[in-house]
Amino acid sequence: MVTKNILVINDCSKQCDDEHALQLISKAHDLSIQMACRVEVLCFGINECADEMNRLYEYGADSIYFYKNTSVGLTDYRHFAEVVSTHINKQMPELVLIPTSTMGKSLSSILSNRFGAGLTADCIDIQLSEKQELIFIRAAMSDTVLAKIVCINCELKLGTVKPNVFKSKKRTTARQEIYEKIDFETRINTPLYTVLSTRQYAQKCSVDFNRYSTIFCLGRGVKDQQNIDRFFALAEKMQVGIAVTRTLVEENLVDKEYQVGQSGKSISPKIYVSFGLSGASQHIVGIKNADVIVAVNHDKNAPIFDFSDIVVEEDLNLILAEMEARFIQ
Ligand SMILES: Cc1cc2nc3c(=O)[nH]c(=O)nc-3n(C[C@H](O)[C@H](O)[C@H](O)COP(=O)(O)OP(=O)(O)OC[C@H]3O[C@@H](n4cnc5c(N)ncnc54)[C@H](O)[C@@H]3O)c2cc1C
Repeated sequence: MVTKNILVINDCSKQCDDEHALQLISKAHDLSIQMACRVEVLCFGINECADEMNRLYEYGADSIYFYKNTSVGLTDYRHFAEVVSTHINKQMPELVLIPTSTMGKSLSSILSNRFGAGLTADCIDIQLSEKQELIFIRAAMSDTVLAKIVCINCELKLGTVKPNVFKSKKRTTARQEIYEKIDFETRINTPLYTVLSTRQYAQKCSVDFNRYSTIFCLGRGVKDQQNIDRFFALAEKMQVGIAVTRTLVEENLVDKEYQVGQSGKSISPKIYVSFGLSGASQHIVGIKNADVIVAVNHDKNAPIFDFSDIVVEEDLNLILAEMEARFIQ
């Protein structure tokens, strides 16, 4: 039987070794060990950089296919779909992991239609069953349930994945590198659109959790705006990020950009410290990749303690005052 591989799509629109790409490659590497297959990474770009390619290998790539194009930019998804379709027809992978970039979303729907492939959008995990079937896990029915999805009657399975759902980590297995550079010239000559004019919009400030190795996460127990402001001031002083549960967003105390969990963002800091949050399952899915979880809660039965490495059974106001005394004065 021919072993089918896992293909990771990397549109290289920023750089080939960006964090999101490394996260997908790391997950593909873990699965490839269980599936006894290789991880192929398809890069589509103008210039390949040796250092960037090296990092892809370090995080789990076994084969890199660099489709080099000089004549078309990276803005037309049809070129990208053409490259990926050609590659799939040649290599026939079992699973294709696609980042949820604008390009990735267009690409996944085109591929699903073109190959009759099973597509699970916004996966929060991919596992292998005892029968070696791929199981895709995602939130469903307005985020009220976590669905486990098995693609039936299709050879090719596709999954799109948001940033920070998986954790990037360097491989510990030996590298067997294959590198292939393919010059790509598109057959599509008609432009998709004509730009009539451009207008600059003020960009909405986006919270970048990746900047921080430690994140404080605030829950309902923090209670009011004054306490929230104190945490933000402290975090700035300590160069720590702030995240919140959905409760504080629903109470209009903090912008949705800061929400972590099933209907918010996923984070993977080295240290995650929660203050006054219970640890609902919808919150936990967003923090499962944190290295160390610390929880401050005055209820010894708070569910968050079951997921924590360090438990602080205490009133958060005391801890906050102590940290302020130490770091602000
Ligand atoms: C479809 C759906 C999607 C959802 N998506 C998300 C999501 O993305 N992210 C998310 O976070 N939630 C989400 N939720 C909500 C989730 O179910 C919980 O309701 C929410 O996470 C609870 O927030 P909390 O822990 O801040 O509040 P609570 O559950 O009320 O917990 C407050 C905690 O604070 C402790 N506390 C209170 N005062 C103090 C004090 N002075 N000192 C120490 N501890 C104190 C209490 O003991 C308690 O454990 C979702 C829910 C649904 C139905």
